[in-house]
Amino acid sequence: MMDLSPIKGDTADQKAAFDSVLIANRGEIALRVQRACRELGLRTVMVCSEADRDADYLAAADTAICIGPAPPGQSYLNKSAILLAMKLTGAGAVHPGYGFLSENAAFSEAVDQMGAVFIGPRADAIRTMGDKIAAKKAMMAAGVPCVPGPDSALPDDPAEIGKIAAEIGYPVIVKAAGGGGGRGMRVVHDPDALSDAVLVTREEARRAFGTPELYIEKFLEHPRHIEIQVLCDNHGGAVWVGLRDCSMQRRHQKVVEEGPAIGIPAEAATFVGNRCVEACRQIGYRGVGTFEFLYENGEFYFIEMNTRLQVEHPVTEMTSGVDLVRQQLLVALGHRLEIEQDDIACDGHSIECRINAEDPYTFAPSPGLITGVRLPGGPGVRVDTHVAAGYRVSAHYDSLIAKLIVHAPTREQAIMRMRRALDEMQIGGVSTNLPLHREILQDPAFAAGGPDIHHLEKWLAARGAQ
Ligand code: ADP
Repeated sequence: MMDLSPIKGDTADQKAAFDSVLIANRGEIALRVQRACRELGLRTVMVCSEADRDADYLAAADTAICIGPAPPGQSYLNKSAILLAMKLTGAGAVHPGYGFLSENAAFSEAVDQMGAVFIGPRADAIRTMGDKIAAKKAMMAAGVPCVPGPDSALPDDPAEIGKIAAEIGYPVIVKAAGGGGGRGMRVVHDPDALSDAVLVTREEARRAFGTPELYIEKFLEHPRHIEIQVLCDNHGGAVWVGLRDCSMQRRHQKVVEEGPAIGIPAEAATFVGNRCVEACRQIGYRGVGTFEFLYENGEFYFIEMNTRLQVEHPVTEMTSGVDLVRQQLLVALGHRLEIEQDDIACDGHSIECRINAEDPYTFAPSPGLITGVRLPGGPGVRVDTHVAAGYRVSAHYDSLIAKLIVHAPTREQAIMRMRRALDEMQIGGVSTNLPLHREILQDPAFAAGGPDIHHLEKWLAARGAQ
């Protein structure tokens, strides 16, 4: 087993030694983190809500502890309950997964203050990236290409705002600095509609995000969503690990992801990847992170950075061979990354389908008892899931029940493999979006590659109209 004691001379993170990790999440991501911890010989503690207490996957952890009732505010988002669970179990570190507390700077700080390790970036990096104006400023300073528009908050004076919008050129998008989850944004096509859009978005931002700060940028009409995975340690090691295309979205939620992003010249990818790494160095970033871009007419435009592990990280793991969660844990332990930029190559093609317990036509959640599960297998197939027959899908949480990931030498083969794997996969007892994925994988535009971020919704509308 590898030596996990902190490496000598590691002044950046003296308290990095820990031998147990509390996993502050649920479902497939809790299991994913559990697996990486186990392979590093780390002890694990899983927390659960009352709704999850009978879930089988909890048995994978060394210790499982119930931290509160089903509503996330009283369990998975309850900072003091999680900190208490850390104290009670002696966990020296906490992995937040994605969602819940993963991008919560105050939580990261509180963990720090109790002398434990938050497996993620420092609170100041989370704060900077959580504020879209501060993030844009930091990116511009590092030479990361951004959407045209100022890197400062909108003034109050409508005439000034009008001037800024005219300079950018319509259509523009008004965005809340504190926005997230696709909310707090408004597209404006002509000058007459600008003032109202600003007023409404400001009010919405004040109520939903606690800050009325807005900014404005060019609205791109037919972009693709392309993102870049980064990985940084505390010793100056920082790498980018390939591009993913997540343009297949419904209501800003990713449905199918793939990597590499096809049709993007290698030099362009390398240029922007290196700028992302430079930005990480400038803000003293540590751990895994994702730079999200819109990509249109051969140009990248930064929109936001996610300071955590992402749902679609397996796509990058399959094509790079890098275990991102393992690297994340090693960095938290104060170690150097096991890889350098020159070691990273892209092998073949990977696609991920998010399998949700929901109606494949109306998208209504479909909670309930899973009566049977048949998982696909064979070459190049990976299923990240926490469910099995007898598992009860709760109405309290998001409906993701499995991630089906395939890997093959070429994109065409990956598509054939995904079609085959989707045909093999069966879930009984609840409705799932498996039929939707089977249809998407037959879509000629998807097969051709490079659809824009509006394609899936248009395709769904056309399907509904048939
Ligand atoms: P959030 O944090 O709410 O996810 P983002 O800034 O990542 O917000 O934007 C979410 C989505 O909104 C993007 O994936 C894209 O579809 C759309 N969007 C955001 N900014 C622009 C823009 N400048 N032009 C076109 N679409 C945009």
